[in-house]
Amino acid sequence: MKWGKWDRRRVLSAVLGLFSFSALTAGLRVRRASAEWLRPPGALPPGDFEAACIRCFRCAEVCPPQCIRFDAWLPPAEADTPFVVPADRACTLCMACTEVCPTGALGRIERQPDLIALVVKMGHPELSKDRCLAWNGKGNCHLCHDVCPYRNQAVTLSGDRPRPEFHPSLCVGCGLCEEACPVDDQAIRIRPLSEKTKAPS
Ligand code: SF4
Ligand code: SF4
Ligand code: SF4
Repeated sequence: MKWGKWDRRRVLSAVLGLFSFSALTAGLRVRRASAEWLRPPGALPPGDFEAACIRCFRCAEVCPPQCIRFDAWLPPAEADTPFVVPADRACTLCMACTEVCPTGALGRIERQPDLIALVVKMGHPELSKDRCLAWNGKGNCHLCHDVCPYRNQAVTLSGDRPRPEFHPSLCVGCGLCEEACPVDDQAIRIRPLSEKTKAPS
């Protein structure tokens, strides 16, 4: 079969259209990620943090679980500043990033669990009981509780058939529970703080 000039144009136009659509949806994904991101521990409040960060990437270089990400395609004020997406990889609260940040964008925090519980607040937990296997009766899951460094405080189990309850005031927002949740589109999400992030004194 021979292709005429108009057939070729139609195919080329369809390919270009598909390419533009992919580029557009990739852009939308980036914008959504920026609205939902968590900052590494010890971050200054929004605005101050972006102004203080010199985009040196040292925090990511020393992060053992490699959970710190950057995105060069965000608007200039936010581009290449570090963020964490716990559903992909959560923070293990080692505090290594806070030890190397040269500007104080991430304030130094000692690796002491009691101190971390007091000063770190990366986000707050939001549980969808409709999607949680323990709450909707579809499973006997309590992984979120088992992986939490502050289990029995930030997340507790209650009832004959244990179901998790989250306690935002005791949660540091590390996201280990979100990373562990086996449900598609995790039933537990750590949301960014709208209010000022607690900074170490
Ligand atoms: S505290 Fe440790 S695990 Fe968490 S973001 Fe910093 S370097 Fe990574
Ligand atoms: S180490 Fe500090 S200044 Fe460097 S990229 Fe990370 S937050 Fe920004
Ligand atoms: S409830 Fe989740 S985010 Fe909060 S401290 Fe425990 S594991 Fe981290």
